[in-house]
Amino acid sequence: MPDRHIEFTTDKRFVRRRTEVKTIEAMVHMYCGHHHGPQAPCTECAELLAYAQRRLERCVFGDAKPACAKCVVHCYNAAMRERVRVVMRWAGPRMLARHPVLAVRHLLAERRPIPRMPVKRKRASEPPKPPKPPKPLD
Ligand SMILES: [Zn+2]
Repeated sequence: MPDRHIEFTTDKRFVRRRTEVKTIEAMVHMYCGHHHGPQAPCTECAELLAYAQRRLERCVFGDAKPACAKCVVHCYNAAMRERVRVVMRWAGPRMLARHPVLAVRHLLAERRPIPRMPVKRKRASEPPKPPKPPKPLD
């Protein structure tokens, strides 16, 4: 039997992260439209958006994820983290007026319990491995 595939962006099993994709999309569009001209999103903002979506797709917590700002895992690289922070700081307070449903959902998301960092289980038989250098995120 062939494997069945479901789409991250449309399947209701991913409803939380799908909503978050919509939220960041709305925020980047508002920010870019205001700062970079009417052709939002511009190339740079589209890149930021693609990056944010990829991070959401690969979130280790899946749909149990906390609001990104409260997360203990820092999955953004430093440059992207700074860029998304600037967008959110500007667009955040404007969301309630422009996208009230998304804004309220996000406020509720911020009250979700915050999962701890996932811990890798060690097997007693395994010899200790030398620490790996941290991998840069794409
Ligand atoms: Zn832009």
